Amino acid sequence: MAHLISGKEISLHIKEEIKQEIQELHKRGIQTGLAVVLVGNDPASEVYVRNKRRTCENLGMKSISHDLPADTSQADLEKLIDDLNQDQSIHGILCQFPLPKPLNETRIIQRIDPKKDVDGLHPYNVGLLSTGAPQFVPCTPLGCMELLKRSDCETKGKHAVVLGRSNLVGRPMAALLSQKGTDATVTLCHSRTQNLSELLQRADIIIAALGKPEFITAPMVKEGVVVIDVGINRMDDETHPKGYRLLGDVCFEEVEKKADFITPVPGGVGPMTIAMLMQNTVLAAKLQHGLVKH
Ligand code: NAP
Repeated sequence: MAHLISGKEISLHIKEEIKQEIQELHKRGIQTGLAVVLVGNDPASEVYVRNKRRTCENLGMKSISHDLPADTSQADLEKLIDDLNQDQSIHGILCQFPLPKPLNETRIIQRIDPKKDVDGLHPYNVGLLSTGAPQFVPCTPLGCMELLKRSDCETKGKHAVVLGRSNLVGRPMAALLSQKGTDATVTLCHSRTQNLSELLQRADIIIAALGKPEFITAPMVKEGVVVIDVGINRMDDETHPKGYRLLGDVCFEEVEKKADFITPVPGGVGPMTIAMLMQNTVLAAKLQHGLVKH
């Protein structure tokens, strides 16, 4: 049976550490502040945003909410981002994606001041990560790295297979795993990858971020593998109080019998993503007040 990597528990420790850092900043007269922008009323986005705002409050961080109607124009949204860029009481800006059509996400990402880009999606921060000198790293892959580190999973010289090449998860994940010091050898897979099962069978570490429920099954993996399941797939289920349940990209029941380490869904990567957002916001506050240098 695999050792369960509980993101829920690990994130509690991290949030406790972050809370202390926020208090230290407070003693220096700095109130850490995060602006969370939500456009429209996508139900999943509303849940994510509510959790982020609640976590800010629990940690003593100022959370500024901007809830805009779905028909907000690109110009108005960009004007809000410009105002937040100028606002010295705001250290981090998070715009919840996906944005309603026809809003252009790329233009919003590029509008956010890279110093306040706590989602790590601005091309400046993507560039820093790819040159091996990261500043802000996207929260989900950063959370996956923390799970590996805090569970003492060796990465040096290991073969890591990352499924999914999105800018949000797969690509930054591959960059982090292959960095000097982490030293994994990375295979980055996508929907056109051939012989995926063969690649997975040779993987010491699997990061599943493709958004396909229970895609990875036991015959695809080798004994002793480390599995980080990023996938969050909402499946209708009338027997569940919420009317749905969440499934990962990995068939947990099967794969946990072969793996050495595995994350559950829910309670794995999800809680780490929010913790890393808080960590990035504290880093942003420190950078903006000259307490750390990049
Ligand atoms: P995405 O933008 O839809 O990207 C999915 C990636 O998977 C694409 O690169 C796609 O390849 C690849 N893919 C699709 N089918 C594949 C297959 N059969 N074999 C190999 N690769 C395949 O999704 P995302 O934003 O990265 O999110 C991925 C999953 O993680 C989703 O379930 C999402 O809900 C979840 N997620 C969780 C968190 C969290 O906090 N836990 C955060 C973010 C995302 P192509 O590029 O060729 O299309």
